[in-house]
Amino acid sequence: MKITFFSTQPYDRESFLKHHTDTQLELIFLEEKLSERTVSLASGSQAVCVFVNDTLNETIIQQLSQLNVQLIALRCAGFNNVDLKAAQACNIRVVRVPAYSPYAVAEHALAMIMTLNRKTHKAYNRIREQNFSLHGLLGFDLYKKTVGVIGTGHIGEVFCRILHGLGCNILACDPVKKPEIEDMGIRYASLNDLLPQCDILSLHCPLNESTSYLINSTTIAQMKAGVMLINTSRGGLVDTKAVIAGLKSGHIGYLGIDVYEQEEDLFFQNLSEQIIHDDIIARLMSFPNVLITAHQGFFTQEALDQIACTTFANIKAFGVGEVLINEVKSAH
Ligand code: NAD
Repeated sequence: MKITFFSTQPYDRESFLKHHTDTQLELIFLEEKLSERTVSLASGSQAVCVFVNDTLNETIIQQLSQLNVQLIALRCAGFNNVDLKAAQACNIRVVRVPAYSPYAVAEHALAMIMTLNRKTHKAYNRIREQNFSLHGLLGFDLYKKTVGVIGTGHIGEVFCRILHGLGCNILACDPVKKPEIEDMGIRYASLNDLLPQCDILSLHCPLNESTSYLINSTTIAQMKAGVMLINTSRGGLVDTKAVIAGLKSGHIGYLGIDVYEQEEDLFFQNLSEQIIHDDIIARLMSFPNVLITAHQGFFTQEALDQIACTTFANIKAFGVGEVLINEVKSAH
């Protein structure tokens, strides 16, 4: 079977080649993102392997179907970029990697909190310039602070365990209550109940119709003044313009984002010699209390290994007609 990989970086190629043991699988690695312009590059492949910023809308899925592509293998957990209805209509199966390392993302969320709070990025630069002053570096104890965790799936649960170890008060919000969370003494609350109580809010729910712009001007107004907002999930959970207004007024005290709604035009590329035309991210980058990372939450060695192994297992199961345990299907 031939598989075309879109949006690959050198580390993807290295990791997939390391775990490539089935000589029946021919791997074609492309740097290009999957789009209407590049879809024809999948010609001759039975499967495409794609990542978070590849476009899989109805048009592209129909074009893949015309090329006789039968499988979309997502090498990520989120599947908000795939029109599942269109895939089903074209008889294309969709598989993903549901849990490659919840630790990678949960630990990155903690890193963002610690950086914003204790300003280690500023301290690092200061010391290099022989500036040993502490002025402006004042942080707060995480101990006993109230942290709201929105989404207690794989990543949210690990994040709760980390916070529990730090002695935080944790409030969780998820339509599905997990006993493992309640066993830690963590209380589930509605979003309305949780928002006014939290010093820190961290998003760990998927992006879908019901969570799109979950963070907007109304929900921001419900938050405590000076709140720290962390988003390592998906950019579309947050109305960025409303967040900028909250940062300008001081109502949002800190923002840490690993994801951004328009990230596909920016992330995973070195644009250091270019003019950024996205004025929203440019404004965000100008705040001293905003930390942006370019979708690197997943980026640990363990996660890359697991992504490659699970993706190969998904493709193999499809090839031999086994049950696809990691299949995603349209709910409608
Ligand atoms: P998961 O499916 O295990 O958990 C998601 C949880 O969110 C579920 O428990 C679900 O019930 C809950 N949820 C759904 N709607 C909700 C709502 N309206 N309010 C509160 N909770 C809600 O997923 P996961 O593996 O924990 O991943 C979570 C998200 O993290 C993914 O959807 C993906 O977008 C993101 N992610 C980001 C990176 C990164 O590199 N930054 C890597 C992997 C995943």
